[in-house]
Amino acid sequence: MTLLAVAEVGRGPLDPNAPVLHADDQGVLRGRAVFETIRVYDGHPFRLEAHLDRLAASAARIGLPPVDADGLALAVEEALEAGGRPDAVLRLLWTPGREGEGTPTGLALVSTLPAGHDTLRARGLRLAVVPWAPGALIAGTKSTSYAENMAAVDEAARRGADDALFVAPDGIVLEGPTSNVWWREERRLLTPSLELPILAGVTRATLLELVSDVGYGVQEGSFPLERLLAADEAFLTSSIREVMPVVAVDDAPIGDRQPGPAAQSLQRALRSAAGYPLER
Ligand code: PLP
Repeated sequence: MTLLAVAEVGRGPLDPNAPVLHADDQGVLRGRAVFETIRVYDGHPFRLEAHLDRLAASAARIGLPPVDADGLALAVEEALEAGGRPDAVLRLLWTPGREGEGTPTGLALVSTLPAGHDTLRARGLRLAVVPWAPGALIAGTKSTSYAENMAAVDEAARRGADDALFVAPDGIVLEGPTSNVWWREERRLLTPSLELPILAGVTRATLLELVSDVGYGVQEGSFPLERLLAADEAFLTSSIREVMPVVAVDDAPIGDRQPGPAAQSLQRALRSAAGYPLER
């Protein structure tokens, strides 16, 4: 991804190659800030309101000053215009600002889409199981303290996989470092419940509304890894990767080791919901 544009709440568009935050910004120094990552389809950030709501909830959870949602929405427009790309990644950052000063900074960042997702979608991901026991504050909060998540992705890569799958100490499937996880048992889709320590994905919520339209049932719950390993197909979901098939976990094939039909139908349904059909 390449950063194309940045706009700051109250300051408007900035040079994307110039420094924006101070060295003693609490987000920089301590990971005490919150963020969101949003897909922009044809100039429209998909489910921006839901992302702004989650940003505000995450900020409240870690004790940051309240998010200026209107200011951020304006910064989003400014950054999208400056970025000049109809299809892009939009990120929001809300940090409480410099040490001892307490003036929050809100940023909207526009970047190019990451390369290679369509190739990965066609072949499907291999995941590596990584044990995960998130702290009470971090679980379900989209703070910038993502070092552990990124270390899990690195560990998965060292083990020859594309991404990690977080499993709790009691063997219950949680999520990925940057995605939610789902699998299919015949006509039913299963996904970990929000009562578990996972992030409430905006994509997850969107897909829960679309599942019955594409002919599947759904069950949210607390499921052991064995259930996923025996599934007919599996996939990850996130705003940027959308619906991404999973074909193996720790070298065990999932289903017939091919991207499955539910992932394909949901990817299609997600794009339609975004007003951006696959066949464009
Ligand atoms: N879970 C985690 C830990 C994440 O970081 C993300 C996205 O970054 C998700 C799930 C998926 O969330 P969304 O669908 O809102 O992109």
